[in-house]
Amino acid sequence: MVAEQSYLKKELYDLIKQDDSIFDFLQESSLDGLWYWDLESPDSEWMSPEFWKTLGIDPATKRHLASEWQDLIHPDDLKVAISNFEKHLENPEHPYDQIVRYTHDNGSTVWVRCRGLAIRNDAGKPIRMLGAHNDITKLKEIENRYEKNLKALDELYATTKVALEESSEIFNKSPDATLQVDDQGYIVRANDAASNLFGYSVTELTEMNVDLLVPDQYRHNHVNHRKDYSKNPSIRPMGTFRKGINAKHKDGHEIPVEIRLGYISTRYGRHVLATIRDISEYQELISSLEEQVSANETLVLQATTDSLTNLHNRRYFEDVGGRALTSFKRHKTLCSLMLIDIDHFKSVNDAHGHNVGDMVLKKIADSMFGVVRNGDTLARIGGEEFAMLLPVTSSIATEILADRLRERIENSSFVDCGIETPITISIGIAEFTSEDHDLKGLMERADHALYYAKEHGRNRVVNYVDIVEEYAL
Ligand code: GH3
Ligand code: MG
Ligand code: MG
Repeated sequence: MVAEQSYLKKELYDLIKQDDSIFDFLQESSLDGLWYWDLESPDSEWMSPEFWKTLGIDPATKRHLASEWQDLIHPDDLKVAISNFEKHLENPEHPYDQIVRYTHDNGSTVWVRCRGLAIRNDAGKPIRMLGAHNDITKLKEIENRYEKNLKALDELYATTKVALEESSEIFNKSPDATLQVDDQGYIVRANDAASNLFGYSVTELTEMNVDLLVPDQYRHNHVNHRKDYSKNPSIRPMGTFRKGINAKHKDGHEIPVEIRLGYISTRYGRHVLATIRDISEYQELISSLEEQVSANETLVLQATTDSLTNLHNRRYFEDVGGRALTSFKRHKTLCSLMLIDIDHFKSVNDAHGHNVGDMVLKKIADSMFGVVRNGDTLARIGGEEFAMLLPVTSSIATEILADRLRERIENSSFVDCGIETPITISIGIAEFTSEDHDLKGLMERADHALYYAKEHGRNRVVNYVDIVEEYAL
């Protein structure tokens, strides 16, 4: 092979010597310019037609002077070329080989690889310089574009890296426990807050299934809910806050939590993002608020209830009754009042003792409670005095109710209290009129009627309208 190559090489070289067209072909087809410089007369330099065509210049306009190319080469590159030229003349081992920029006739830059070889005389003195040009502009453009793309890629990589680091930092440092869970329920990512909440290390969490963080009794349901959710995900809270959801700590204790669900698309399919917040403190706060509210309700009840009879007290009657009257007045609603007083109650106490008196009071209160209709207000307003406000009821209709009550008491047996004789009540009735503004007048009129009943034999019902002439107020 080597021998064969040698003979062909020799043949080609001979051919080049004999036939100029071979050399022309070679330089035209493989080079973008050839130059041959007379170092003994440095103004003279022959440059091939390709040399000028590469620079967009008509070769016919050129006179083969070295100054012609020196005017077109970039000044910085000329310096490099001259320096290499000098070194090469001094030492043939130093290559005359550099990339230089020329200005094309149209103003653009032509990048040229310029190589040269000094031809020396027998004394070794350089007398000529042969050089070749290769236009590498296209290569340079590709290289530039490649570099630009590479730079853009570098920047993109850097920004993406920062964004990834930031998002991972946000995930890791989020104050809420956050879990990224795959469609099989396996935890793919967990943050420090999740580790603190559940008592597992981040590594332990990322090796387990999320179902293990659900208390045993809810686990079965959770598996089903999780499957439903991955089929139809949305951003929403899990469960309801008031009903409460518990999570399971590594040590087994349950933690009341609030969970928000979201989802993200990943290379590995849709993943669920669960944000879990410990709400033990909220729940404690709510329980204590609820206790306070209930304690307040008890206080209000205590403040408005008579402890002996369990009926409302005078304060309640005046408050609620007063407000009711304001509304009745505005809506021109009918309303009546009964004042009820036990007859000779002092003698019950005197004869049987205070405790028996209390039993009698309770019994009578129960009987009265039995006749109260929805919307009526009944209260114990004094020792053995009671009041009943009856909305949408005339004094005549009230009289009928009052008499029924009076009869009921009269016919009640108090033998169980040790009292053989009947106990009676007297009732005074008054009706709310357009002249009334509050409870005061109504109470006064009912009280007059009650007084009248007492004066006229007790155990009776008196309607103020029947005595108004006698008692004109
Ligand atoms: P009248 O027929 O005129 O109403 O005569 P009365 O004796 O019922 O009237 P009076 O106002 O003179 O007496 C009311 C009595 O009611 C006085 C008091 O001893 C008694 N009393 C008031 N509050 C209570 C209570 O809470 N328990 C008991 N056992 N007695 C009470
Ligand atoms: Mg009395
Ligand atoms: Mg009395």
